[in-house]
Amino acid sequence: APRKQGEELPVLPPDITRERFNEAVAELRKEIGEANVELNDKPLVDGWYMEHPNTHDAFHILEQDDTVSSATIYPGSTEEVQTTVRWANKYLIPIYPISMGRNLGYGGAAPRIRGAMVLDLGKRMNKVLKIDPDNCSCLVEPGVSYFALYEAVQATGYPLWIDTPDLGGGSVLGNAVDRGVGYTPYGDHFGCHCGMEVVLPTGEVVRTGMGALPGKDGEDNPCWQSFQYGYGPYNDGIFTQSNFGIVTKMGFWLMPATEHTSYLITFRDEDQYPQIMQTIRPLAINKVLGNVPQLRHVIQELAVTGKPKSHFYDGEGPIPREVIRKWAKDMPCGDCSWVFYGTVYGPDDFRKGQLDIIRREFGKIEGSRLMLPEKLPQDHYLHSRVSVCSGVPVLRELDWLNWLPNGAHLFFAPIAPTSGEDVKKLFELCRKRHEEYGIDLFPTLCVASRESHVIVNLVYDRSSPASKKAAYDCLRAMISDAAAGGYGEYRTHILFADQVANTYNWGGGALMKLNETLKDALDPNGILAPGRNGIWPERYRGKGYEI
Ligand code: ADP
Repeated sequence: APRKQGEELPVLPPDITRERFNEAVAELRKEIGEANVELNDKPLVDGWYMEHPNTHDAFHILEQDDTVSSATIYPGSTEEVQTTVRWANKYLIPIYPISMGRNLGYGGAAPRIRGAMVLDLGKRMNKVLKIDPDNCSCLVEPGVSYFALYEAVQATGYPLWIDTPDLGGGSVLGNAVDRGVGYTPYGDHFGCHCGMEVVLPTGEVVRTGMGALPGKDGEDNPCWQSFQYGYGPYNDGIFTQSNFGIVTKMGFWLMPATEHTSYLITFRDEDQYPQIMQTIRPLAINKVLGNVPQLRHVIQELAVTGKPKSHFYDGEGPIPREVIRKWAKDMPCGDCSWVFYGTVYGPDDFRKGQLDIIRREFGKIEGSRLMLPEKLPQDHYLHSRVSVCSGVPVLRELDWLNWLPNGAHLFFAPIAPTSGEDVKKLFELCRKRHEEYGIDLFPTLCVASRESHVIVNLVYDRSSPASKKAAYDCLRAMISDAAAGGYGEYRTHILFADQVANTYNWGGGALMKLNETLKDALDPNGILAPGRNGIWPERYRGKGYEI
């Protein structure tokens, strides 16, 4: 992999000489072990999802070595995290905590500041600390992936589910801290967490919720994973999508296993989606829809086959709608424009009742068809949804990356009211910008209930500067268009964090002022993940770091 011409490696953090840096590294190695501080001085390798790098963003959208670390630190315990934090304060070296760093599409493992040190918690702190079958809960360290938690829960033999996002290789804790979502009724990962242990940027450890009250004889509090709030201000939220602390343990509720039926409904016409959304809203709010269902554009039926775009279309620019429909016609979904993936839960008669209502309501939309898994071939995507929607982690969604050579992706993820009119405004601005930049539009709506996460997946070719620039510019334009219409993102790539944070500017930027006040109080030296979520510590503010 190319590195910036003639640059000495590793790349240094800001404002430090190489001599002082080397001295700092030697000191930390003495404290936590030689092998646990690894310099980033070898060629960068993008790897792939299961062998992702912790040195940079594998899905680089700028040059590969733009968001690169100076080193990776592997703490083995909460105490070693504290030691590292105190050391970082001494040398004023920025550290960037990750759990596993598979946050692909949002920056991967890359630090926001070039030359920061990545604190890779997951490599050595990867234990499932507790599974409580009666309370239906668990306590995990940062390095526990969905696959690992699934295995651990299976091994207990208790009928419990975990909740997994589309891809199962990520960290359970890391995803919740970034407020990611999954697809069982426990899909709100932060909402289903219970209790945290956090190392503050000055080195103290706190436990939140009931964890703050010591159990008998020094044990963990028996209600730590039972009651979320404890007493006093509810602090957990400030440790998500922020740079206020390093989460070293986190509790989660597990769902009791239940029977379930996944289904899909196809809709004939492209312009039926506002009506589909209007149909979904009351069903979602009334919880007739049992999980977070997805409404996907039919282009995704092509993409999830894992075949490249060139298989379907060899022309220039975005694949035309007629071409998509022509292919869809011969696929199990048939000639349609939208595909809705849902799941209902509970005993037979319960599910039957729900499905009857779903059939009746969606049946009012002309040309819609409901299909059940047994009617679809084994390799159809619905079977992978059956797994995900019942808490079984999979990797199927990776097939997307075959769409373009050297495929990588970036997400545009605004929140919309679950209303036809709002979704239409967002889709229209997306379509306009995608056409302008010559990018295929892959929209998915994840309907929580009153709001929908509108997820637009921008797939680009990592080896092509033009393809990257188009995706980058398209995303910037969409964020700004959306904000002008009153819509904001729920999460974004590290390089777009400043732009998104700046759109949440009601009351003269009152929210950012509060965040900065907290940041400066908790992290006076500004060592923890400067710039994460657009929050800059005083030492970095106004010095040209914001983009
Ligand atoms: P995953 O492996 O689940 O995709 P990551 O480990 O990449 O997730 O975490 C996503 C983001 O959340 C990270 O880039 C980091 O900013 C933040 N994060 C993850 N784990 C922690 C943690 N334990 N403490 C503080 N922030 C974290």
